[in-house]
Amino acid sequence: MHIAGATTWLSTQQRQLIELAVTLGRENFAPRAARHDSEATFPFENYEDLRRAGLLKICVPLEHGGLGADFATYVLVAAEIGRHCGATALSYNMHVCSSLWTSFIADALVMTPAQRSDHDSNRRQLYANIVDGGKVYSQSFSEGGAAAAGKAPWGTLAHRVDGGYIVNGKKIFASLAGAADFYGVLCTLDTPGATPRDTLYLAVDAQAPGVAVAGDWDALGMRGTASRTLLFKDVFVPASARLLPEGLYVQAASRFPHMFATLSATYMGIAQAAYDFTVQFLRAELPGMPPVKRRMYPTKQIAVADMRIRLEQTRALFLQSARDAQVDPDKDTRMRLYAAHYSIMENAQALAALAVRTCGGQSLLKTLPLERLYRDARCGSLMLPWTAELCQDQLGRECLYEQGERDEAIE
Ligand SMILES: Cc1cc2nc3c(=O)[nH]c(=O)nc-3n(C[C@H](O)[C@H](O)[C@H](O)COP(=O)(O)OP(=O)(O)OC[C@H]3O[C@@H](n4cnc5c(N)ncnc54)[C@H](O)[C@@H]3O)c2cc1C
Repeated sequence: MHIAGATTWLSTQQRQLIELAVTLGRENFAPRAARHDSEATFPFENYEDLRRAGLLKICVPLEHGGLGADFATYVLVAAEIGRHCGATALSYNMHVCSSLWTSFIADALVMTPAQRSDHDSNRRQLYANIVDGGKVYSQSFSEGGAAAAGKAPWGTLAHRVDGGYIVNGKKIFASLAGAADFYGVLCTLDTPGATPRDTLYLAVDAQAPGVAVAGDWDALGMRGTASRTLLFKDVFVPASARLLPEGLYVQAASRFPHMFATLSATYMGIAQAAYDFTVQFLRAELPGMPPVKRRMYPTKQIAVADMRIRLEQTRALFLQSARDAQVDPDKDTRMRLYAAHYSIMENAQALAALAVRTCGGQSLLKTLPLERLYRDARCGSLMLPWTAELCQDQLGRECLYEQGERDEAIE
């Protein structure tokens, strides 16, 4: 069964790309996942497979030589990858974001003719790098302060100079550190009194003088993402590496909030994998396990039914958000998106925990994938800007207030 469910509602392209992701995930990524998890190494071979299969260019528009996949197609593909290797799906998401921000989202933004022409020229270079050069991009935003939650300007600064910018700063938890060819960096245009509106989105060449990767990545889960620290010291970034015109990132982020939910596709895949594992375990079909069936016990049947119910609730929200995604969603759609993202991230860990409880002690052995799924699943609801807490925060506010509404001061 595909996460997309019955394939009748899918286009031919969607069916083909999902099938490709399933084959790569099952045959190539899954067998490598345990090693990259145990060694906390980046799965370069998986990226070679993605490159060869054309999946690095999945969301590059057709007219630029890409596959022209839309948002829904991308998240369905990403979820199937996450089903077999969460870390690969998560870092792949960071790569694909560079194509999503710059294509149909950018097309909908209000730009001056000069900005439009400048953006067209910059994205032509970006897409050529991906399509012809097979280059990989990251999304390195987090700094450890309030900026990633959207509450303060980025501490990483870009100072305008002739032909581009000089960038100084630091990014933490930067998936693909040391593995990407370009780091997609959010920084603040260095102007007096800068606010989050002065956010700038630049592609920093990983080989540029002044770029360094620091620290290690020895985390509980998602160990194959290589999410180390990036340091930028007087790094020159040419103006042609600007991925959105100055000042337009905030407009893009507010008009296409589904971008922040792309992360949940990975965790939808992990939720599905935890269920798949449990069914195989109870049917004694897991390779390497003694053939002891446990499916005949009523407690196991109830537990797996509970898991399936929670999985179906999660999947319904995931598929609905994939279909809903559009520029300028109405308030109801936005609120459903927060609820969907929250539910997928929280239910992935709940399903992994239920799987452990149902399958028992033997399922915890490192020779089986469940303990990795359990650890990887824990990471989803911590990811900014839409952590579980911040989704609730935003949803609660929007449930009770209409735009512009304020409370009178309470005496
Ligand atoms: C596996 C993994 C991969 C990652 N990859 C990337 C990546 O590629 N690029 C990238 O940019 N980042 C990445 N991140 C970073 C991630 O988005 C967070 O920035 C990181 O987990 C650090 O978060 P924190 O909990 O320390 O943040 P903190 O800012 O310390 O927040 C702690 C918690 O407080 C809450 N909180 C934060 N701000 C507010 C507020 N203003 N109001 C109310 N509550 C608030 C949030 O719920 C948050 O969970 C990754 C993280 C993980 C776990």
